[in-house]
Formats: sequence, structure tokens, C-alpha cells
Amino acid sequence: MARLTFKRGIHPPHGKHYTEDKPIENYLDPKGDLVYPMVQHIGAPCEPLVKRGDRVLVGQKIAEAQAFVSAPIHSSVSGTVKAITESLIPNGQKVKAIVVENDHEYEEDPSLNKAYNYKDMTREEIINVIKEAGIVGMGGAGFPTHIKLSPPEDKEIDHIILNGAECEPYLTSDYRVMLEESERIIEGLKIILTLFPKARGVIGIEDNKPEAIKILKQHAAGQDRIDVVSLKTKYPQGAEKQLIYAVTKREVPFKGKLPADVGCIVHNVDTVVAVQRAIRRGRPLMRRIVTVTGGAIKEPKNFKVRIGTSYQELIDAAGGFTEEPVKLISGGPMMGMALYNVDLPVVKGTSAILALTKKEANDGGELNCIRCGKCIEVCPLNLIPSELNALALNKDWEGFEKLNGLECLQCGCCSFACPSKRHLVQSLRTAKSTILQNRRKKK
Ligand code: SF4
Ligand code: SF4
Repeated sequence: MARLTFKRGIHPPHGKHYTEDKPIENYLDPKGDLVYPMVQHIGAPCEPLVKRGDRVLVGQKIAEAQAFVSAPIHSSVSGTVKAITESLIPNGQKVKAIVVENDHEYEEDPSLNKAYNYKDMTREEIINVIKEAGIVGMGGAGFPTHIKLSPPEDKEIDHIILNGAECEPYLTSDYRVMLEESERIIEGLKIILTLFPKARGVIGIEDNKPEAIKILKQHAAGQDRIDVVSLKTKYPQGAEKQLIYAVTKREVPFKGKLPADVGCIVHNVDTVVAVQRAIRRGRPLMRRIVTVTGGAIKEPKNFKVRIGTSYQELIDAAGGFTEEPVKLISGGPMMGMALYNVDLPVVKGTSAILALTKKEANDGGELNCIRCGKCIEVCPLNLIPSELNALALNKDWEGFEKLNGLECLQCGCCSFACPSKRHLVQSLRTAKSTILQNRRKKK
């Protein structure tokens, strides 16, 4: 079988052995309060629709989108609104949040469970159900799905690509979804394909997941608009631009261009399951699969959890720590967010909680750049990370922008390859956010 791929990239140790063979375990009766931050997606924060003391039901909309690029939030339990307060989110920001005390009755909102027949629905009706269900990209980026499905009219979409690469080390939540919810993935993709009559659906999976390729091929058999393709196992194969290149050989240009500009829309496999559940079962986005793993976790697992469940509770449910972790991360080791506190709620984009031992974290002090060029050799965007690092450290924002630093994926390939252990990606991330903040202030 041909293995599709992109240019450059790296091969980090994969670490998936902890959980890849662990079926998804339900953790659906959380003990503590559920916390719903008003920022769970890229775009404008939501505003609460409830106040302290209100009773809420499972699936009830408790916060409304305030702008075009946003997505509503639903309660994942029944209970009482205990507070409207502030909560930390995985990126370290403090944002407004609704706290619900779980009554453990799981009484559902009567509006739930309306099953739709998508074949009888208009494009607007399908997109509206997805919007009202609060679905956002579940691969981590958190872009509202209804916006992705509404590209400008002049963009002709000929590829709907499902990202089943899961190239980040340690993560296995998408893999288990592909094995255990394969029918839903195919039906979700069929629903999306009705919106784009000229498009074919392509599910891209790295070739270190042969079982997932096999089972999805079985379910896609007889679907003339759907293909399952094998991708070379290489990081960051699941990054949007790299996936598009692997599947279509098209390059998404720099300077704010989007996948739709080259005829593509990319969704994570679990996002498509959420679409299927919204349309066929009338369920808003209230749950997700979270991998709790790493050498410092006693019993690494894949959990199905209610959004709003605390990270600490999931770590406890995985047996706690075997030793004090040297590094705690929300997400994968390459692109995840370092955590200084696990008193955090699971949000729509939480794919994993990772607790690394000293050996796994491999954190050393920085040495001087020896101009070996290894960071340049691996950068999937052909940037010059060593130069960008120097510009970032000198706060030369103009020079940083000129060298296309704002295009950096923050994939971490350069840091991984650097023999001097330079903190390249951290400096690039900080430079990017400073430049973007400065731009916002000027507006
Ligand atoms: S410069 Fe950015 S895109 Fe290139 S390897 Fe480093 S983190 Fe990845
Ligand atoms: S890989 Fe590290 S040492 Fe080599 S050129 Fe890049 S920054 Fe310098």
C-alpha cells in the first residue's frame, strides 16, 4: 500500500504502548463539581445563560455564543449552578466559568434526543444543528465546526479529509475512537459529504495503526465517495497543512490562507462522531475521550468523560502517580500545554493528561547554537528556527514576521532535533503571541 506523507518532520518515540490496547472506559459519574469555562474554542468567549441557584439538566444550553466564531456550551450533568466564577483553563488563562454541583440523577433536558434524517434536511438545517450542538474541533485546536463547514461560496471544496493520524506521541484517544466508533465516523462523514456534493471523503491514518485502517476500510466498503488512506508514521503528519499535502499534494500558502483555499476541509475523527451524534441522536457535545497516560501514571487509561470533569479526578481514576511527575502536560508532549496545576476541568479540546517521568521528559539546560542546521532540516514549513529563535530573544518582532515566524505551527520538531536543547518552540510561541497581542492592542 502506498504511504502518503509530507516533506521533512521527525520520528519521536511513540509512547502509545501504555494505552493503545486499552478499550475506552466510561468515567461518567464524576464525584466533584463540573466546571464549564466560557472559553472552550477558538473565537469569542460565551456568556452564561444561567445564574447561581438555577437547576440545570443534562444537555441544557448553559452558555451562549456571543459572536459569529463561537459555539454554545451545554451542561453534561443535572444539578444546581453553584457559582459563576473564574477557572483556570489548560493554557494557563483564567476565564469566567459556570460551576455545577452534580446531583447524580442525570436528568435530561426534554429537547434532547431529536433524531434527524439528514437526507431530508437542507444544508442550513444541518449546519444549524451542528452549531446548536456546540461542536468544535476535538483534535485540540477547537475551531467551531459549523464555521469550518461554511467556507466562502467562491471556494470549491473537493476534499473532506478526516484526520486519523494522531501523530502526537502517547495519545490514543482518536485511535480508540476509530476502533470503537468506526460506524459513527463513516456516517458522520456521509452527513458532511451531503453538504459538499463535489467532494470526496478521505480518512487519513498513520500506518502504525493497521487495525484502525482495517476496520474503517471495512465500514467504508461500498461507499463510492469515501477512501481510507495509509499515511507514513511521521510527526507532525496530523497537522492540517501536512495532512492536506500528504493526501492531495497541495500546499496551503502562507499569509493567512486556509485549507478551503486549496479545496479542502479537515476534521478530527472524534469531531465527526460528535456531528453524527448531534444529527442522528440529537445529542449536543457533552463528552469526550481523554487519554490519561505517561510513565508516572499508575494505570494509564482511555476514559470517556463528561466535559467539566476535573483533571485531578481523572488522574485519581487512573490510580494516581507512581512517582512525582517531572512534567505534567495537557495534550501530547510535542504540542500540549505544560501544567502547573491539575485543578482544571476537561474542556472540549482536552485529548490527554500526560504525566512524564524524568527519563521521559528529557529536559536539559540550553547550550549555545552550534549552527548545525538540524532544526532547519526538520521544519515541516521550511522555516529557519535558529534565526527565528535569535530574533525572538532579541524581541525583533519585525524581523520575526519577515522570516514568516507567524506561520510557525509550534509543532516542536525543531526543539526535538536540536542537539543543543535550545528552547526553540517556546521562544517562537511567545514571540507569536506577543506580536498578535500587540496587533490587537493597536486595533
Ligand atoms: S519552526 Fe515552528 S513549524 Fe518549524 S519545526 Fe519549529 S515549531 Fe515546527
Ligand atoms: S538545531 Fe539547534 S544547534 Fe543546530 S542550528 Fe538549530 S538551534 Fe542551532
